Amino acid sequence: MIKKFEVRTRRQQELIDITPQIQQWLAQTGIRQGTLLIFVPHTTAAVTINENADPDVATDMLGDFERLVPDSPSFRHSEGNSAAHIKSSLIGVSENLIINQGALLLGTWQSIYFCEFDGPRSRTFYASIPSGHNP
Ligand code: ZN
Repeated sequence: MIKKFEVRTRRQQELIDITPQIQQWLAQTGIRQGTLLIFVPHTTAAVTINENADPDVATDMLGDFERLVPDSPSFRHSEGNSAAHIKSSLIGVSENLIINQGALLLGTWQSIYFCEFDGPRSRTFYASIPSGHNP
């Protein structure tokens, strides 16, 4: 079972909490146990799981991603967005999650974040639940 989701990013770099979209779809499937894969089909975006309680955490993460991978005049890629490509690979484009009692098994302070590194753009991501799971 595969579901395609749309995300409209509003800034050049942004972390967007996509947990509610995924939970809502999961509830509609009726699946109670299993695993769920999130996949981001972009080369300048990523997905990660981190704190949802204090929004300053997302801000600090974006700030340090920028310090870890700053734009550089020595980059050769003509689009000028090599830093975004590097961040995408560092953070990764997939996450595996556990479905337990019909909900995503996440820690109290965890949310799933779509990571935009070269926005604003219209983006997509996929959620997939392997076949063979019983509702
Ligand atoms: Zn590029």
